[in-house]
Amino acid sequence: MSELDAYREAVARRREAIMERVDAALARSGRKAGSVKVMAVSKTVDVPQVVAAIDAGYRFFGENRPQELVRKLEGLSVLAGEDGCVAGADARDLRFDMIGNLQTNKINAVLGRAACIHSISSLHLAEAVSSRAARRVEAGELAGPQPVLIEVNVSGEASKSGFAPDDLRNAFSQLAQLPGIRITGLMTMAPRGDARCAHETFAGLRDLRDELAASYPSVDLAELSCGMSEDFEAAIEEGSTLIRLGRVAFNPSFALA
Ligand SMILES: *Cc1c(COP(=O)(O)O)cnc(C)c1O
Repeated sequence: MSELDAYREAVARRREAIMERVDAALARSGRKAGSVKVMAVSKTVDVPQVVAAIDAGYRFFGENRPQELVRKLEGLSVLAGEDGCVAGADARDLRFDMIGNLQTNKINAVLGRAACIHSISSLHLAEAVSSRAARRVEAGELAGPQPVLIEVNVSGEASKSGFAPDDLRNAFSQLAQLPGIRITGLMTMAPRGDARCAHETFAGLRDLRDELAASYPSVDLAELSCGMSEDFEAAIEEGSTLIRLGRVAFNPSFALA
């Protein structure tokens, strides 16, 4: 068996173990089966590993650098032959999101490629994405406003980007009026390696969402993007609708806690 075949099997086995954990976390928090999306964060792997993940059943991927997002999409479109399929999946069913810091000079590379941008971390960035997307919509190059999530620094760690909760409360009415973006929810990251703190962070994101949803009933804030390899079960228990799994999905030797 080739190394890649062995990897493919390992990723498929790992996916089954992850999905069991996901289902169990949903069940114990009284949530509906299938009510959380599972993103495979492919930022550290190459196109063949993404193909292995598609073969294992993943359809939803995340990248944190615009160049990598473009490279993965181009690699997959080359592989999708005349029938438009990669590893048995219709390439049109594959979704890639942008989850990392976005510089304004890279916005155009991401528009129309990322189904959703998770990392809108300031009003300035939101305005820049909105104006470029609105221009592309006007030119007929983009079907509609760019779906985005607003990144929130719930835990207050200095190293994390995102709106401080109070800054988001103050900026939200301006954000909601930007014509080139469509806000679909909030995103956060918990501090590493502290389970109790992870629960507090995710609960804080949910509470902030509930508060904003009550104040701005016309904005759909259904998506809560939170939970990574080390804390996805805690995130599901606190209401996450989208978990972003990197190492646990792609590194078969990463311990599934
Ligand atoms: C890398 C990354 C992830 C996945 O991290 P793991 O801990 O490897 O699961 C999730 N979200 C963002 C924004 C990332 O940059």
